[in-house]
Amino acid sequence: PINKQTREFQAETKQLLDLMIHSIYTNKEIFLRELISNASDAIDKIRFESLTNHDLLEGQSDFEIFIVPDESTHTLTISDNGIGMTYDEVVENIGTIAKSGTKSFLEKLKEKETATDNELIGQFGVGFYSAFMVSDKVTLITRAPGQAKGVKWQSSGDGTYTIEEVEKETRGTTIIITLNDEFTTADGSKENFLDRYTIENLIKKYSDYIRYPIKMSFIKEEKPKDEEGKVIEDAPATQTVEVRTLNSMTPLWTRNKNDISAEEYHTFYKNLFHDWEDPLKLIHSKAEGTVEYTSLLFIPSRAPFDLYTQKSSSGIRLYSKQIFIMDNCQDLLPEYLRFVKGLVDSPDFSLNISRELLQHSKQLKLIGKNLEKSVLKTLENLLTNERPTYEKFWKEFGKALKVGAYTDFQSRDKLKDLLLFSSSHATEELTTLHDYIERMSENQKVIYYATGKDRASVERLPQMELLKEKGIEVLYLYDQVDEFTIDALQEYKEKKFQSISRGELNLDDIDSPEAKKDTEAILKENESLIKAIKEHLKGKIADVKISNRLKSSAVCLVSDDNGISLSMEQILSEMNN
Ligand code: ADP
Ligand code: MG
Repeated sequence: PINKQTREFQAETKQLLDLMIHSIYTNKEIFLRELISNASDAIDKIRFESLTNHDLLEGQSDFEIFIVPDESTHTLTISDNGIGMTYDEVVENIGTIAKSGTKSFLEKLKEKETATDNELIGQFGVGFYSAFMVSDKVTLITRAPGQAKGVKWQSSGDGTYTIEEVEKETRGTTIIITLNDEFTTADGSKENFLDRYTIENLIKKYSDYIRYPIKMSFIKEEKPKDEEGKVIEDAPATQTVEVRTLNSMTPLWTRNKNDISAEEYHTFYKNLFHDWEDPLKLIHSKAEGTVEYTSLLFIPSRAPFDLYTQKSSSGIRLYSKQIFIMDNCQDLLPEYLRFVKGLVDSPDFSLNISRELLQHSKQLKLIGKNLEKSVLKTLENLLTNERPTYEKFWKEFGKALKVGAYTDFQSRDKLKDLLLFSSSHATEELTTLHDYIERMSENQKVIYYATGKDRASVERLPQMELLKEKGIEVLYLYDQVDEFTIDALQEYKEKKFQSISRGELNLDDIDSPEAKKDTEAILKENESLIKAIKEHLKGKIADVKISNRLKSSAVCLVSDDNGISLSMEQILSEMNN
């Protein structure tokens, strides 16, 4: 066996542990939710893997989570018969912070001024380490199926932990928490996590939907009864142990919509997806017919910090008859909706379907189409009926839609009405393309746009002068993807997009024959000047033209009609570097 070793936590882990231990956060009770959720995840995993490898179960397939409070040792023990961990997995999973949830928690902390923002602790699912909020010492004993030995891990959260091989008969993980003395709840009352009724209430509050029984034994003191069933008062009481299941195990999504409160939905969302904020919007639907499924989708309030870098992860979990099949089910929603979280439960999938098979599943495609439709419908409704909420959404996830509109040609049409842009129309408001068209005068032939890093720099463009004077609205594109999106769309309601820094402006009066004559005259008069400028800038520019689009500036740079625009050129050259 591998003997006992003392090891150091990774620096980030230490930082997190410190936070937990010194936390004055009042909502410490969430540690139980976190440990139960880990136990449930671990059972999900073995349940799934055992479908293809039955031996893993080692003959034990009654999945359960067991809680034992023990006053005499001041410990709370939580056991599961899930997948367990090997020695290396313990080192990997418990000694380091590899989890994105925990990472983003630390990330958020760094954003904040104070390094100990207590609110964040409770709002984030900080996972296993939250045990240290209530504990002086945490012991974890685990064995993965097929392993001869178990592993014991222990730490007082002081920067080091010990790890050794031990005997463990049953498969799964046992976590023993030595509790601190006493806790105070948010309302100031004392809380005792060894109290069975406190525990029962916490399970009901946070973990009711967990699909495996969470059991605890209650000791019943009972006096014997006489033949008529009457209690014999002076006889000594006998103690019987009664094991009770604390959770109802009814998955939220199987319940009737009308019976579910907003708070229940929100708690469910936050628990399952480790978010600390309520979702912005939720969509709960049932379908029967060619495909049968229940779906529960959430649009988060905030984009995760890595939304645009994490290429392929998606937040959709797949279930079949309430049994978890897989998370990150990528083929359900198009890439541009990867910020949507939620789940799909359909009896049409077999439990041991592989990701490869899923990709080709007709049902999955059909469900996916429906989900996409209902998300887009929801967004459309938000846009028309709850504009401020939509703008909040747009601030967080607008970029995903914009990227979608240019990368996913099938979706372009569906997305074009959901896009918002800044414009010269109003400083504070964003506009849809539809509203732009509504405002434009009859003889305006194109939709004008300008690019720049912010409003001030766009408004300084010499090219803006004439349009401003004429009162023509211009879309302001600040985001790099904006121009790609516009280019991909090409037109909206038969109006082409026209960059104000590209080619002709397509304005009736300045492109009229008379105006052209004027320019020609000026050109003649200044032939030598233009020649001199061309000579001077040879190789740097393609042409020098007399323009009537300027008002107070002497000169402006434009691209020709077919050429890429100036800002696009900048992006491309940045990408090449
Ligand atoms: P998360 O649950 O978000 O992954 P945690 O900090 O809660 O983060 O847990 C870290 C990792 O430790 C888990 O991903 C899992 O691999 C492992 N782990 C924690 N608890 C258990 C358990 N009861 N059984 C098996 N593995 C566990
Ligand atoms: Mg966890």
